[in-house]
Amino acid sequence: MSSNSLQNKKIVISGGASGIGWATTKICVAKGASVYLCDIDNSALNKIKKHPQYNKKIFAANVDASKESAVIKFFKDIKKKFKYLDGLINNVGIAGPTGSIEKLNSRDWVRTLYVNVISHFYFTKQTIPLMKKSKYGSIINISSGAGIMGFPLRSSYAASKWAVVGLTKTLAMELGKYKIRVNAVCPGTIKGDRMERVIRDKAKFTKISPKIIEDDFISMSSMKTWVAEEDIGNMCAFLISNEANKVSGQVIAVDGNTERMD
Ligand code: NAD
Repeated sequence: MSSNSLQNKKIVISGGASGIGWATTKICVAKGASVYLCDIDNSALNKIKKHPQYNKKIFAANVDASKESAVIKFFKDIKKKFKYLDGLINNVGIAGPTGSIEKLNSRDWVRTLYVNVISHFYFTKQTIPLMKKSKYGSIINISSGAGIMGFPLRSSYAASKWAVVGLTKTLAMELGKYKIRVNAVCPGTIKGDRMERVIRDKAKFTKISPKIIEDDFISMSSMKTWVAEEDIGNMCAFLISNEANKVSGQVIAVDGNTERMD
């Protein structure tokens, strides 16, 4: 992929101030795109203000992606900067509760679906008119290995990530005639803060040491490796670029080939 493969592309990323979303923002901007991201974490939003492209090619707002009124307002602000959109990355996601289903709190379970699935409906609904204008668009829904396999003790997360795959397949069929492509990217286990939290919660529930759980996570992929946030960012950049102009309706794992999730 060339270094300016996203020249003049306008991209929106939900949950973009840290983790995969922020790594993806930096990759897309380095390839020529402008990115408008949102997040609810003020300290992460403040940190990105130091980036040299802040308020030039990177714009950011505090928006709760799971609240439709906030998303509608966010898109009003986006339209003041971008007249059209080429890319939407529905990245926002929370881990949801860990535990056997009879012990899980209903509120936490439902909240996972609001953040991980229903937010994507809100963002996609606002984005489609802006992509139809340019007769070009690439929507990327971030799913997970848990959207391809079962994931014991993480029922709400797995349900949300399979829902993302169903949404992707359906939207690709609905939007193909407008030259809008829709794909799901399924990251493997990423080295970073989020997995540290997941490992800590699993260790607490199973009473197994975090080190054993960490080694077990790595052993689940054929390549016996963690995945880097940038691996996901590079895949997203490719999917938004013209080089992927016939790739739609696909569920693409970037995970060193996950063989099991247990
Ligand atoms: P992360 O927790 O590092 O980043 C997610 C960001 O979303 C955070 O900045 C957080 O503040 C923000 N956020 C949370 N709730 C929000 C809300 N309601 N509105 C707006 N922003 C909100 O997570 P990540 O690892 O970068 O994950 C990104 C995506 O990748 C998620 O959909 C996740 O499920 C998926 N994923 C991650 C992994 C992994 O190992 N990290 C593996 C598979 C899939």
